[in-house]
This record gives sequence, structure tokens and C-alpha cells, in this order.
Amino acid sequence: MAMDEFALIGRYFRTAQLERAADASAVVLGIGDDAALLQMAADQQLVISTDSLLAGIHFPERYPPAELGYRALAVAVSDLAAMAATPLAFTLALSLPAVDEPWLQAFSRGLATAAHDFAINLIGGDTTRGPLNIGVTVLGQVPNGQALARAGARVGDLLCIGGPLGDGAAGLAVVQGKNVPTGLPMAKQDYLQQRFWRPQPQLALGLQLRGVASAGLDVSDGLLADAEHIASASGVALHIDAVRLPGSEALAAWPELQQLDWMLRGGDDYVLLFTLPALAKPRIAHWRAAGHAISVIGSVHAGSGVLLDVGKGYAPLTGARGYQHFRSLDD
Ligand code: ADP
Ligand code: MG
Repeated sequence: MAMDEFALIGRYFRTAQLERAADASAVVLGIGDDAALLQMAADQQLVISTDSLLAGIHFPERYPPAELGYRALAVAVSDLAAMAATPLAFTLALSLPAVDEPWLQAFSRGLATAAHDFAINLIGGDTTRGPLNIGVTVLGQVPNGQALARAGARVGDLLCIGGPLGDGAAGLAVVQGKNVPTGLPMAKQDYLQQRFWRPQPQLALGLQLRGVASAGLDVSDGLLADAEHIASASGVALHIDAVRLPGSEALAAWPELQQLDWMLRGGDDYVLLFTLPALAKPRIAHWRAAGHAISVIGSVHAGSGVLLDVGKGYAPLTGARGYQHFRSLDD
């Protein structure tokens, strides 16, 4: 690259803000050697997840680089929350078309803010020239046997969601200035933009779910698509009651059918979807009192797939076509 690669890494990534965003006692060797070295405790399992972000697919072509840095780490950390893990460290594989110092400055600042917010240290990466591509690998830990997988939902369990749905898609609409209701107050626009650029992985909720929830994941592709993953991994049917889906006050500015479409299929919400044995139901009130906006949106049944009730009884869905079919029923 034009600027010396090592100078670039040293200036923007091998920084105290990123290398020591949180307690770094597990890091034996960080950035600067051939590989990083972490000290794991014997009673913990290592949790690993990788996400790639591409312009035009995972974020709009026009974007603020600081927000992109924040979002890149937030969406990766959400996978740790979904496994009921605590963050340990992350690596960054960055491909850049050119050395753009203001861009790097802003990107690394947003990245460092996220690293601080989620208490996770940067321990290495790779830097190359090429089309913009941001690869983040997050490492986390969970006590042996306590990770929250997609398999494990049982007939009779409740289906729960950890926060509002549809804000990610509405946030993208606001960011792109497309399909925004006229007169949407600035405070609601700001809220939605934040929900898109700065999703908050539900790490604290994930910890609460350890040893309690039977299955779970984070909603990144859309509720229906992600519920389908739990249904197939667990070998059960999930019933979802559309009137129980939680939407924010800001989302309510859109027509009802648009709200429902975004809550069901919008994606980018990064809230936890999980199944809870009926015996654990009393915990929901405690979690809500502690500030977790949990809603029961359905239940687990024998069978397969996702069935949605929009007021006319539970009807099966099979991916996008199933949902198209549902739309034609409702129109
Ligand atoms: P190698 O040639 O051994 O793969 P590199 O020259 O790619 O090493 O990287 C040198 C050091 O800088 C390594 O410790 C690597 O993890 C780190 N590094 C490279 N790019 C980044 C980045 N974008 N963010 C953080 N660390 C990086
Ligand atoms: Mg390398």
C-alpha cells in the first residue's frame, strides 16, 4: 500500500484504545507477532465467529466511516451474545482500495468506541489492498457446556424475543432517505439511525439465558428466516403470533403492513430470539424488571417449520415464497 503497511497498522490499529479497550489479562501476545496468544481458563470453552461486511450488501455505498467501524464490530459481537458468551478479543481483516487517512482515522475511532462498549480487545488482523472488505473475527468464552445453540427447543417451550423488531430495516430506510414518512420527528429519525449504525448486542441478556433458555440466536436476517433456523436445528415447529411482535414507537410511523413486513423479514435487528421452558416463565418478569425488553411472541410445537398467525389462524411459511403467500392473504 502507498503508506507503509506497518505504519498504517501502528497508527490506526495498534493503539491503546483498541488493544486495551477492556481488561487484557487473557492476552499473552497481541498485535505485532506472527499470531496472537490468549490464555484460556480450563473451565471455559472458546467461542469463535466471523463476519464480513461488503459495501452495497451489508451497508449502503454512502456511509460515515466511524459508524461503519462501530457497526462492523457490533454485528460480530452479537453472535457472541447469541451464544451466551462473553467477549474476549477480536481480529480485523481489512481490505482497502487506497490509504485514506481521514477514513482510517474515523473508522478506527468508531471501531474503538464499539470495542470499549462491548469490552473486547483487538489482538491482530491483516491489511491488504483491494475492494473495501471488512472481516471481523470475534473470540469469546462461555463456561463449559453453557453455550446457547440453535438446537434444543422442546415442545411446550415459549418463543421469546429480547427487544423490538423492525428498527434495523426502518433505520436503513432513514439512513438512505427512502420511504420515510413525511414529518417523522428528528428524535425518531436519530433513534432509528442509531439502531442501524450502532446495534447493541444483547450480551447481558445472553448471560441471563445461560442454563435457562433451551435454544437461541440473534436476529440478523429477519425473524422468519432466523426462526426457521431454530425450528430446523431443533426439529420442532415454531408458532408466531403476529399481534405480539414488539415494535418501537418510531416504527409505528410507517403503515401497518410495512411495519409487519419489516418486523418479520427486515433483519439487522440484532435482538436475541430464544425458546424458554414453560417452567422458567416467571423469570421473564424479573428480566423485564432488570431492563430487558422481552416479549413472548409464540410457542414451540411438534412438527416442522414456522407458522404465523396474522389473525386468521396459524398458517405455515416456507421461506420468502411462503411469506409472499401470506402477504397476498392479507392484502
Ligand atoms: P504476517 O505477515 O505475519 O501475517 P502482518 O504483516 O500481516 O503479519 O501483520 C503484522 C501484525 O499486525 C500481526 O500481528 C497482525 O496480526 C497485525 N495486523 C495486521 N493488520 C491488522 C489490522 N488491520 N488490525 C490489527 N492488527 C493487524
Ligand atoms: Mg498477514
